[in-house]
This record gives sequence, C-alpha cells and structure tokens, in this order.
Amino acid sequence: MASLPLSPDRIDDARETLRRLFGFEGFRGRQEEVVARVLAGQSTLAVMPTGAGKSLTYQLPAAMLGGTCVVISPLIALMHDQLRSARANGIRAATLTSADADWRETMDAYRAGELDLLYVAPERASQPQFLDFLTAAPIALFAIDEAHCVSEWGHDFRPDYRQLRPLMDSFPDVPRLALTATADKRTRLDILQQLGIPEDGLVLAGFDRPNIRYAIRHRDNPVRQITQLMNEEPGPGIVYAPTRRKVEDLAAKLADATGRPVRPYHAGLEAEERAANQASFVASEDMVIVATIAFGMGIDKPDVRFVAHAGIPKSIEAYYQETGRAGRDGDPARAEMLWGAGDFAQARQRLGELPEARQAEERARLDALAGLVETPGCRRAVLLRHFGEDPPETCGNCDNCLSPPQVTDATELARKLLSAVYRTGQTYGFGHVQKVLTGAEDERVRQRGHDALTVFGIVEGEDARLLQPLSRALQARGALVSTEHGGLALGGDARDILRGDASVEMVLPPKRERRRRGRNAAPNPVGDPLFDALRELRRELAIEAQVPPYVIFHDATLREMAANRPASLAELGTIAGIGAKKLEAYGEAFLRVIQRH
Ligand code: ADP
Ligand code: ZN
Repeated sequence: MASLPLSPDRIDDARETLRRLFGFEGFRGRQEEVVARVLAGQSTLAVMPTGAGKSLTYQLPAAMLGGTCVVISPLIALMHDQLRSARANGIRAATLTSADADWRETMDAYRAGELDLLYVAPERASQPQFLDFLTAAPIALFAIDEAHCVSEWGHDFRPDYRQLRPLMDSFPDVPRLALTATADKRTRLDILQQLGIPEDGLVLAGFDRPNIRYAIRHRDNPVRQITQLMNEEPGPGIVYAPTRRKVEDLAAKLADATGRPVRPYHAGLEAEERAANQASFVASEDMVIVATIAFGMGIDKPDVRFVAHAGIPKSIEAYYQETGRAGRDGDPARAEMLWGAGDFAQARQRLGELPEARQAEERARLDALAGLVETPGCRRAVLLRHFGEDPPETCGNCDNCLSPPQVTDATELARKLLSAVYRTGQTYGFGHVQKVLTGAEDERVRQRGHDALTVFGIVEGEDARLLQPLSRALQARGALVSTEHGGLALGGDARDILRGDASVEMVLPPKRERRRRGRNAAPNPVGDPLFDALRELRRELAIEAQVPPYVIFHDATLREMAANRPASLAELGTIAGIGAKKLEAYGEAFLRVIQRH
C-alpha cells in the first residue's frame, strides 16, 4: 500500500473508532487509504465496487472529525437507508429531504454542531439558501455519493450535480470525497475535473466481487430454471425480466412453483404498489422480486443472495451493475443469466433503428456481451478484463471454472448452416433451415423445392444435434440476424466464415443439465435451533425499531454468535459487526437467547 498521509497515531485512532462504532476488526480493501486521506484533509475520488464499503469511508471520519460531513446523495431511499444504518451505530445523522417532517430539528442540530452527517439531494444542495444555511456551522467534509452522476460520460448524468462545484468552492478548506462504483477511465477523469479533485486523489479499488458466483446458461425453461435456483437459495433475490408483461407472468409462475413470497416491480405499476413492494423486499429475509431494470438504483440491501437475468442485459456494464446488487454483505451469492438466441437477434435488429452515429458503439457493446455469453473460459476474467484489469485466467467460482465446457471447431458446420440460410432466400426461421439441412421429409420443404438444393440433407448424426446451439452461437456473434418476420439472414462476419476467412469455435452444450447442488456452501446453518432463535429475535427487534433486520445485525454476525456462544457482553462485543451502540442496545437480549439454547 502507498504510504499514508497520516501519523500512525491517527491511524490507530481510526482503527479504534472502527472497532468501537462499527464492531469491525479492520479495514477492507482500500478503505484505510481513503479514510487516511480524508482525515488528512485531502480531496479524493474513491472508485470501489458495490459492497466494498464506501459509506464507511466518510461515516468514520465524520464521527472522528469536528464539524459536520455533508453528504450529497441522489435518492431519498438511499439516504434513508444510510440514515438508519448510521444511527444504528450511534452516529448522529439526519436527512433534509421532501419526505422528512423534522426539518426544524435537523437545522437546529446542524447549527448547534450536533450532527456528524447531514444528507441532502443535489437539487437542494445547489440552492443559494442552502449555502447560507451551511455557513452557520463548521463543515468537516463534503461526500458526493454516486459521483458518476456529475459526468455526461457516466450512464446516469444528473445536471444538478454540476451545481455542486460552486457550493463546495465557497468552502475552499473543506476536503471533498467523491464515491462511485462505476466509472471507466474517461468518466473518472471527468469526475475529478468537474468536482475539483486533483488527479493524484484517485483511489481505484479492484472491480472483483469474489463472493459472487457467475453462471450463464441457455434458457430452455426459465420458470423451471429459476425455480431450481430459488430452491437452492432461500434468501432474498432479484429476477430481471425484459418487459412488464414478462415480469407479471414470471412473478405469478414463480410464486406458484416455489410457494415463496414473490412480488413484481415495473414502471407500469401504481407508484404506491411499487413503493410497497420495494419496501417489503428490503425488509424481507426470503422475498424474491421480479423486475424490469427500473428496479435497483437506490436499493442498498446487503443480503440479496441471487440476481437472475431471464434475458440478456443491455451491456456488460449493465450486467455488472445489476449482478453487483447480490452479496454486498460479503457472503456467497449467485448471478445467473439465462439467454436465448432471440435475445441477441432482436437486440441486433433494434440497432438498425438507432441513429447511424450510435450504431457502431451499441454493436460493440453487444459483441462484448456475446463474448461473455459464449466464452468457454472464466466469466470473471472476461468481466474484469472488460473493465481494464488483468485478472488470473481462472477464478474457481464461475460455471466455466467449476465445470469447464468442451469446445469444438464448428467452422465446417457453420458454413453449411450459413449457406442453407443463404440458399433458402434468408427468409425462413431456424426450424425450416434445419429440416433442409437434415434432409427431412417435409411438405413445405418439398413445395418450395428446397429438397432440390445442394444443401439438402448434408448434415447428419452428431452434427445434426449441434445445429441448434450453433445457430444460437452464430446469432450471439451476429453472423446470423433476425429478419422483420422472424426469419434468419446473414449478418456480421457471415461472409468471411463462408469464404473460409473466419473460423467458428463453439461451446458444446452439457450432455445433461448438470445439477450443481453445491449450494454455494450456503453459509447459514440449516435446522440449528440457536441460529433460528437468534434470527427470530432479530426479526422482533427489527419490527420494533421499524428497520430491516440487516440493520440490527447481518447474518454473518448471527452465525458467529451461534458458533461461539458468547457468555458475556464483553465476549459478545468481540464479534464482527457489533459496535458499542449495538452491544448496549441489543446485547442483553441476544445473550439471553444464547443462554436458553
Ligand atoms: P458500498 O456502498 O460500497 O456498496 P456499503 O457501504 O453498503 O458498500 O458496505 C457494504 C457492507 O460491507 C456493509 O454491510 C458494511 O457494513 C460492510 N463493511 C464495510 N466496511 C467493512 C469492514 N471494514 N469490515 C467488515 N465489513 C464492512
Ligand atoms: Zn471463473
């Protein structure tokens, strides 16, 4: 690690506060570096993946420094989530949003210097009255959450973020800490510039999420496939589906098939129903939400155990962000994508509707996604390389690493398939082309005279079984595209393949869909009466305090209690995730449960 801009004493102070307030034994990843910079008054841009623990990098200094840390955050739901966690750890925090009724108290507390953290939205922060208000008390730090919103290069530009600079410039001595999980190089430089942070203030953590197990499979029966996943993973999960109709349909069928609580979420629902479904999901320990991509931003639920995609996401960036919502608590979690050839064919068809200038860029995105889907190698390696990292060749925690697929050179077969598509006039769907190639007795084939083509009956045996997965692979790659009426036509590098200038490698489909029961070594003990009782107590306390159970304690903390059976408050206090405030508030209650079992 680079040398830290702080005296060892001050770092010790920080570690001590980390233990006392959060109950954590040490910093994770590059947290320490960020905290040290902030404590030394140096402006910083921290780019860290979801779940790395970004909020701690300003909450901890906020608790240590005199003055208030002003946090800019784009969503009320996010702010309230943070507020609950901060308060549960005994940090003095407040929000100023349109959803709050306690404005006067909050403003008084700020003026009296009694707030560690003050959360506001960018549109409020950029108003002149807010500047006046802030000058009434000392500010320790400006923290800008979701900082990619300041850049037009980011995927989520919010013009209000541009107004933050003048506000912060009015307090030239107050350091700035910008935080984001998603920023490519261009966006990072832009954020630094827009927020006035020096270039050497960038702290870039790796993108890897080692606790997420990636798997990408062909979608043969989504209800059955996702049901199986849900049966293996009893915790909360998110299923992304491409359209409102599919969301509704899948939600109903999954509820039926599994008997678990399943709720839909999409922009077509009444705002109230949407909010209610989201709130129940956040509070739940076993709910599954089926949603369009409208769902997710602003969800800070740490115990999501799986994210499934019932169709392809928009890009690798979107995939990484969506799957990143799994396993923020660091416990094992799964990301499962189910894809069909039609997903790519349709996406490629829609490219044609885009303005000329954007087509190439979008095509490149799809090609990258197809590369991820079709790779016989490590999924994580493909993902991390996409984000500019240099990962090991294998990770041991994705479908391809766990059971390496077989690869075959399918160039010859691809040429047969493509030329059959060409010779039948590029208007028929896969079924017809397949009949022609395998020489099937078929009325329609005969009527069209396709039994007289040179490609009639040229594929047999094992090869015939490969035609369908090959057609999928060619569609993912773009060498086959959909016509308006659902037929197949040549596209991409089809002509190069036909001429023998390009080759086609394909992943052989598994003989049987292997049942990978190995439930991610599901960490929670099943049927342990003590663990169940601890969860029950957590549920009761959560209802009483009106917070989601994870705000009280994470699963990992309960597991450690059940395993170590602490007998005193002092012993209990050594468990990760139990700070002084929580020990005082809940310690006795949990000790009683442990004694009774
Ligand atoms: P991010 O905002 O980067 O997605 P969060 O701030 O929500 O991540 O933190 C993710 C989880 O990691 C939280 O539940 C938090 O309590 C936990 N966490 C953060 N820092 C540490 C640490 N040093 N040790 C253990 N757990 C941590
Ligand atoms: Zn891997």
